[in-house]
Amino acid sequence: MFLKLSGLRIKIHRKHTLLQVFLICVILISIYQLHTRRNGVQETQSKADNGGRVEWRDWHDYVAIARDAEREGIGEQGRPAALPSGYDKEVVAASWQVYGFNALLSEQISVERAVPDFRHSRCLSMTYYKVLPKTSIIIVHRNEHPSVLQRTLHSLWNRTPHELLHELILVDDFSTSPPFEASLEQKLLTKFGTKLKILKLSVHQGLIRARVAGARLATGEALVFLDAHVEATHNWLPPLLQPIVDNPQASTTPNIDIIDYDTFEYIEGTPARGGFDWNFVYVELPLLPEEQAALPAPHNNPVMNGGLFAIGAKFFWHLGAYDEALEVWGGEQFELSFKIWMCGGRLLEVPCSRFGHLYRDGKFAVKYTNGTDDYQGKNFKRVALVWLDEYQDVLYKYNPELVQIDVGDVSKRRALRERLQCKPFKWFLDTIAPDLVRKYPPFAPPNYASGAIQSVAAPQLCLDLMQLPVENPIGVLRPCSSNLKNPIDSQNWQLTFHRHLQQEKDYCLEVQSNEPNAFIWLWLCHYEGGNQFWYYDHQSQLLMQGEPWTERRCLEANVNSRRLYMNICDSSNVNMKWNFGLVNQSLLDNFFEGLQANEEMK
Ligand code: MN
Repeated sequence: MFLKLSGLRIKIHRKHTLLQVFLICVILISIYQLHTRRNGVQETQSKADNGGRVEWRDWHDYVAIARDAEREGIGEQGRPAALPSGYDKEVVAASWQVYGFNALLSEQISVERAVPDFRHSRCLSMTYYKVLPKTSIIIVHRNEHPSVLQRTLHSLWNRTPHELLHELILVDDFSTSPPFEASLEQKLLTKFGTKLKILKLSVHQGLIRARVAGARLATGEALVFLDAHVEATHNWLPPLLQPIVDNPQASTTPNIDIIDYDTFEYIEGTPARGGFDWNFVYVELPLLPEEQAALPAPHNNPVMNGGLFAIGAKFFWHLGAYDEALEVWGGEQFELSFKIWMCGGRLLEVPCSRFGHLYRDGKFAVKYTNGTDDYQGKNFKRVALVWLDEYQDVLYKYNPELVQIDVGDVSKRRALRERLQCKPFKWFLDTIAPDLVRKYPPFAPPNYASGAIQSVAAPQLCLDLMQLPVENPIGVLRPCSSNLKNPIDSQNWQLTFHRHLQQEKDYCLEVQSNEPNAFIWLWLCHYEGGNQFWYYDHQSQLLMQGEPWTERRCLEANVNSRRLYMNICDSSNVNMKWNFGLVNQSLLDNFFEGLQANEEMK
């Protein structure tokens, strides 16, 4: 008997006992598992299949790519477009109100337009397994503009290998103005044949339940969920499927490009990791340095950006799909992302797969539903009750209105978590998104110092923000508030646990030059230390900017002009001495503790 696996060729004699054969098999399987685990998401690594051989394929459709390259016209190649003259302004404005984008312009742009290829150059030569799972694409729409929905469908039809496209399931969530007239629907059905399945819900279910309804209909091995206002790019599907073949408990998200709501320009988006703040607002986190260096290899994605992802059908149902008690939309991407990570899976963003997403104009809150209750608050609380453990208190701390909301029975979802033996939420935060915790600390540590910053040279004067607009140099001394510990807002500073000097959330004092008499600026916090790193030495009373291993500068008052500048620190210069209204001395004594560790984790 011969076994051939991963280049090993081992002869097993008949006289060996069954136990020995069994042991050798265990060892070989272990070696194989180690091998595949190590190479799990590296697209170019080999993978042993049943025969010890794997076949690779260049999945590019060069005919379609060449055909697209030829296309010319309004909005073609993703170029910015404008409405031809002659449109009634009021009609244009009314259409914006309804859709939140330039819908009349969309009608002028071909539903089969070409878009630019923003992929990393290495994606162009990547091959993927010859055998990939048959895929069901599920798209929910409700009152979507017909041209936008058609562009979604045609881009998929033209840029998806038909042998992998098992079906395209279009779920109409009870549109009040159906996007297709009967004749157009017939045309689409004729073009896409039996691969297009149209499910019309007879009751408005909301995006989340409508997606699950679409998934129930699906018979493909892999499911791809998409929004109804996207444009697929060439070769988007194989890179999303490959990691799922390597690890059936992986789910993948594409790199998202931006379709401009005004010009329909197709704009390059950057690879990102998804996260959230403690209001459950989706935020983007930068790639870790090693992920950045490994591009375009897939990288861990803590939280998916809403609607676009691929997942094995079995794994989706194993995870209990979406919580169908979630209403309309919002929070469902957190629920699914937490589940994927905490219950044994993995979520990856795949930069070689790209989709354009039409972001609506935020000025017009397009309503997906007519309901008026706080369905997002309810969803957030449901997700928190099941998945957040002790961290649900953090959500309540920032959103006390959630405490009162009735979210119904969550016992079935908790039982699901129990049954799947999912890890604690703390594990998810610590392991998958440690930078999220640093940026949005759940239990914000106290400030090092706070209150007024009073000049020692001129004790009647304090550092005042004086309501200067942000992104301007600041530097004004004004008469101090009578209460230095709790002064008026414009004099109420905090030296935070981030080692920021700030007042308003998100805006930090920073220094932009090493020149003498450099200005101080109020700038968006970047959480990278450096020019936004501040330290108050309560012994010398100096207020220093910069990490201790850099050439630090100190805040200096010009008490005559009442201006403020940064200069080389000099503890004998009384103009550089300051009193802080409130100082946490013991915290300040340990100010630099753990700083190096934080640096390493960045
Ligand atoms: Mn969307």
